[in-house]
Amino acid sequence: MQGFKYSCALIAVLVCSAAVHAQSAADVEVKVIPLSDNIHVVMGMGGNIGVTTGKDGTFIIDDDMPPLAEKIEAAIATISDDPVKMIFNTHWHFDHTGGNKHFGEKGAQIIAHDNVRERMSTKQSSALFNNETPASSNVALPVVTFDNTLTLHLNRNTIKAIHLPPAHTDGDSILIFEEANIAHLGDLFFNGMYPVVDISAGGSVQGMIDAIDAMLPMLNADMQLIPGHGPVSDIEGLKEFRLMLATVHSRVNTLVEEGKTVEEVLKLRPSYNYDQKWAWDFMPPDRFVKIVYDSAAASAAAGN
Ligand SMILES: [Zn+2]
Repeated sequence: MQGFKYSCALIAVLVCSAAVHAQSAADVEVKVIPLSDNIHVVMGMGGNIGVTTGKDGTFIIDDDMPPLAEKIEAAIATISDDPVKMIFNTHWHFDHTGGNKHFGEKGAQIIAHDNVRERMSTKQSSALFNNETPASSNVALPVVTFDNTLTLHLNRNTIKAIHLPPAHTDGDSILIFEEANIAHLGDLFFNGMYPVVDISAGGSVQGMIDAIDAMLPMLNADMQLIPGHGPVSDIEGLKEFRLMLATVHSRVNTLVEEGKTVEEVLKLRPSYNYDQKWAWDFMPPDRFVKIVYDSAAASAAAGN
């Protein structure tokens, strides 16, 4: 039921009332999954959270949605008594940065790519979701930003943060824990779920495929991969995601080149053989195909 709860909560945040939203948050059971002696994944309602604890303090990657902050904090407290000292945001979306204000007010320092701070500093509009995300308060903004790479040395791990060219958004980063052989891929990997691709924020489906191709040489067969959404996976799971994306994108792109309208493309069901495994409440086949169509059409219009 995890997926159902998550998707209802996401839809509630986007289009429903605050009351429904609060109700969904109250129902969420936050899970803590160990990946090594000092690295865990915390799964709530939004993006998966990576957590490392130890003598250098508690460092987390992403922090879910605003109403979950106290539950996330309680889950982290089952791993360590130390407060959250540092947060890394893999991108600006509210289901990955929603706890920034809560933890920032308690003194946590926030790190992210330059474009994450820029987007969070101003109101963002999404054509796909027909919604607006207000600018974040100062305390919720990243205080350390970087352009291409950043290395953290924490809790016996060398943690490389790597920014990739526009893909899910224009401010995506992945993090690799070198000694532990674990990576958090943010929303560049939706495991077993059709992804959201935020075209309004500079993303594209081709960019997602290119980002996976760029990161594959940095990963290895024994590595545990934390996706932005869905269960912990490995390189084979990531390759399966890439194959699905590339196949649907190629089919849709051909139809775009033939001059078909979005309605015509939807009728042809270009994702038909993937729908059973990858579609979910929030991203049914038609919505996913429309994202791929819009992305392919935008690339064609730009002459790429
Ligand atoms: Zn996202």
